Amino acid sequence: MSCFRYERDADGVVTLTFDMPGRSQNVWSQASIDDLSAVVERLAGDAESKGAILTSAKKDFVAGADLEELKSICFGPRDAADLNARCGALSVVLRRMETCGKPVVAAINGAALGGGLELCLAAHRRIVADDPRIKLGLPEATLGLLPGGGGTQRLARLIGVTASMPLLMEGKQLRPDAAKKAGFVDEIVPAAELMAAARAWLLGKPVSTQPWDAKGYKVPGGGVDDGTVLQTFMVANAMLLAKTQGNYPAGRAILSCLYEGLAVDIDAGLLVEKRYFVQLLLGPVAGAMIRTLFLSMQEANKLARRPAGVPRRKPARIGILGAGLMGAGVAFVAAGLGIEVVILDRSREAAEAAWTYATQRLDKQISRGQSTPAQKEALLGRIHPTADYADLAGCDAVVEAVFEDRAVKAQVTAAADAVLGPEAIFGSNTSTLPITGLAAASSRPDRFIGLHFFSPVERMPLVEVIRGEATSEETLAFALDLVQALGKTPIVVRDSRGFYTSRVFGTYITEGMAMLAEGIAPTLIEAAGRRSGMPMPPLALADEVGLGLMAQVGRQTRADLGDAAPHNPSTVVLEALVDGQGRTGKRSGQGFYDYGMDGGKRLWSGLGAQWPARADQPTVEALVTRFLYTQALEAARCVEAGVIEDPGEADVGAILGWGFAPYTGGPLSFIDGVGLPAFVAQADALADAVGKRFRPPALLRRFASEGRGFYPR
Ligand code: NAD
Repeated sequence: MSCFRYERDADGVVTLTFDMPGRSQNVWSQASIDDLSAVVERLAGDAESKGAILTSAKKDFVAGADLEELKSICFGPRDAADLNARCGALSVVLRRMETCGKPVVAAINGAALGGGLELCLAAHRRIVADDPRIKLGLPEATLGLLPGGGGTQRLARLIGVTASMPLLMEGKQLRPDAAKKAGFVDEIVPAAELMAAARAWLLGKPVSTQPWDAKGYKVPGGGVDDGTVLQTFMVANAMLLAKTQGNYPAGRAILSCLYEGLAVDIDAGLLVEKRYFVQLLLGPVAGAMIRTLFLSMQEANKLARRPAGVPRRKPARIGILGAGLMGAGVAFVAAGLGIEVVILDRSREAAEAAWTYATQRLDKQISRGQSTPAQKEALLGRIHPTADYADLAGCDAVVEAVFEDRAVKAQVTAAADAVLGPEAIFGSNTSTLPITGLAAASSRPDRFIGLHFFSPVERMPLVEVIRGEATSEETLAFALDLVQALGKTPIVVRDSRGFYTSRVFGTYITEGMAMLAEGIAPTLIEAAGRRSGMPMPPLALADEVGLGLMAQVGRQTRADLGDAAPHNPSTVVLEALVDGQGRTGKRSGQGFYDYGMDGGKRLWSGLGAQWPARADQPTVEALVTRFLYTQALEAARCVEAGVIEDPGEADVGAILGWGFAPYTGGPLSFIDGVGLPAFVAQADALADAVGKRFRPPALLRRFASEGRGFYPR
């Protein structure tokens, strides 16, 4: 069965409907590209046709490439000739379509992203349905790729080199009106009139030649030999390097496609694009990013780890204990998604902080045109502040977000238990306290689970779902339903100190402090942190988390574990700063940095006296290796200990939770990318040179000797 329907009416108007059998979305796969090729040939040879309307039978127009297929190219066996043919296939068909002699109009009835928009760009006219939910864009760069179906060449030839740069390099997605303003949409019409408008164009004065194939064509805004455009390239290169630290080859490749591709004609430009596309596919970044940020994330969002056989439940009403930063954040998100929220604090006034929090955010959204006063009123109406536990009756779930104190948590747990129905689950948002211990305060420990949200809740996409020893399968299943209903991505972890995210993330910060203790210059440490691709350098991040808080967690761990507590050279640094100097982090204005009233910060000048810089400073690369290895090793230890089972979830959690260098695809992808034997050898070398925290766990040695990795090859 073909992916395209070919229907010609009495007026000679052909409708080409993209409708992939058995799939909810249209994507570019080997099969759909072949089918497009066949219908384009039929159109070209159809003497009775006046031209074609391209449209889609799905809700979205075309979602882009089949990423499973791309992943198999990234990680599968590599035959250069086969790869060249496969990767260039869409580009060849689209070029044939725009030069086949018949006018083609794209009637865009839904989102057209990536290869979907590339199809539209190869049409001679683009008409979009007036629906603000429709998005148009070329997001390939966000997965380490570039648009390989002619997108870099046609967009720049249509709207100009400078205007196309942010769309290509940042993968910006535009609503129809913004796309029309940007110049790559010709017409916006009411959805019901879409096909009629396309027909009218075909039966009027259609053109079947692209501007770039017409005589005298000039790139809008100037070609690559224009002085202003050349300057744009220089600025874009510098900005790209500052932003990506050279870790993402896609941006660089896109600039090359523009620079080299627009210096020649379109056919040669398409070949330039293909060469860079194949280069990216064969490099280490694209495959890792596609696997983690698309495929594994999709699995997590589909709740792949939800226990089978437990019926789905949609939460209608939830309770939240504590209207502080986290409680108010969860309330805002839930109410925004239509869930009724009972929020409880020590007094009704304290609970009303959730209204203040939501009001501030909504007012900002209204001022930006992203919300309306009526929506604000409706949302606030779904948040019910209280100090009375009886109001929690009828809630499907409770999220506990009171102080990080075992006694306080135990008291609110018992009070909530007394009024909750038998089906309701209780999720604690603790960041450090083991769930099994907290569940001891509950009369129904099987209904108790950890729901670790991140701050700020409305922006952070991850929730770490922590199973306690007694947590039932039903509770886990419903907790995952709840996370999904809140629009977040869940990962499932086993109860243990620091769970998964805090445990691994902590090693990045402590490694930065350990470097300081060794006499490595703080500016070098911070530069290496940035260079490694982490969102913030380690000492600045330590200040954000709070040095006082970290010192306290360290003391608690040592008290709980005694001699078994892990020893780390960062402890000395932390204690010298917190106990010796009273520097407790950003909140107090003094930590590794001094914070000025103007919001600026500088590394504290006293660091040099406290930890004199040694004469032989290491290279930035050596420090980057330490930052990535320390986290990757801890993530591997978490897998070994069963804290987290699925490598995909571990990698998704790392990138979404603490921003672990996304170009690696996550810490376990990083290990696989280096290769197990090489990774183990390097870790051993670091252990000998720096400290035993780098000694690889037995699991990695076993993987290395068995010739396997975390992901199947
Ligand atoms: P917060 O201090 O901002 O808020 C705590 C709220 O709990 C306050 O409004 C307080 O009045 C209320 N409260 C205290 N005792 C209470 C009681 N007996 N009954 C009812 N309400 C009570 O704290 P937060 O930052 O929102 O953190 C809450 C929880 O979330 C903690 O367990 C924390 O470890 C965890 N957490 C925090 C973050 C973060 O970045 N702040 C991130 C993840 C998890």
